Amino acid sequence: AKDLGRNRICFFESAMQTDVQRRLTLEQDLKVGFADAQFSAFVQPQVDCGGVVVGGELLMRWQHPQRGAVSPTEFIPVAEASGLIVRMGDWMIEQACSALARLEAGGALVPLSVNVSQRQFRQEGFVTRVQTMLGQSGARADHLILEVTESLLAEQMEETIARMCELVALGVRFSIDDFGTGYSSLAYLKRMPLFELKIDKSFVQDTPADPSDTAIVQTILAVARNLGLRVVAEGVEIKAQADFLTACQCDVLQGYFFGRPEPLAGWVERRLA
Ligand code: C2E
Ligand code: CA
Ligand code: CA
Ligand code: CA
Repeated sequence: AKDLGRNRICFFESAMQTDVQRRLTLEQDLKVGFADAQFSAFVQPQVDCGGVVVGGELLMRWQHPQRGAVSPTEFIPVAEASGLIVRMGDWMIEQACSALARLEAGGALVPLSVNVSQRQFRQEGFVTRVQTMLGQSGARADHLILEVTESLLAEQMEETIARMCELVALGVRFSIDDFGTGYSSLAYLKRMPLFELKIDKSFVQDTPADPSDTAIVQTILAVARNLGLRVVAEGVEIKAQADFLTACQCDVLQGYFFGRPEPLAGWVERRLA
């Protein structure tokens, strides 16, 4: 039994080592890949209850020459830990800004949302960089929506709110991503200069069959309405979910049912055509 235990420990250690190694090489590959233009911006459409496209969320994609497509759920945490997320995330904002400028010039403007990681948001000079990117592209600030998560509020709340207010003063709008999965209290929410809440797909998934998820979605909608916030439901995959959310008067729907993420450039061109 003792030997068996030892073997298990050895097995566990080597599994951990492989994990650490994979992380390290992934970090190396990220650096090279970012310099080597292996990353691209995809966009997933957002629609209103009538099915009209009212916006899009930008999502990062990585096509590695050997690994193939690497999921953001795998590489974003590594990019965050290494600090590379700051440059990568800023690059995504740049992509959004140039797309916004093109859309406006072609008379097909809709707001675009970009995910902003905590580390990127807190980085010195973030506000100035956003201002510069908006200025250089000519994008309208009020069509740039920054998605942040509730975890941003867990620490340095005063600084966080102050920085958000600086960005809001530029015209930029804020959305709370994955709403309901973090720790934010309703009191915090009231103090933040927010435009929108995004209901996490884990709550949307089992509606309308699951009574507690259905209640959670309805509660989030009621809270948002009282605070004057727009609500986006993410992860809408089937008609029954879309029908339920429409009946609840959810403002915006996003998910495979309406469209998968696709290359941003092609999506912009189609809107302009
Ligand atoms: P998220 O911000 O919550 O984005 C929504 C995720 O759900 C995306 O996964 C999207 O492709 C996926 N999705 C959309 N519709 C459906 C659906 O109907 N069903 C299901 N099951 N999933 C759906 P993706 O693209 O793999 O991104 C995963 C996460 O990686 C994102 O979650 C976000 O937290 C992060 N991420 C992606 N791009 C960026 C970025 O540019 N910057 C930062 N900081 N994070 C990013
Ligand atoms: Ca998001
Ligand atoms: Ca989510
Ligand atoms: Ca997220």
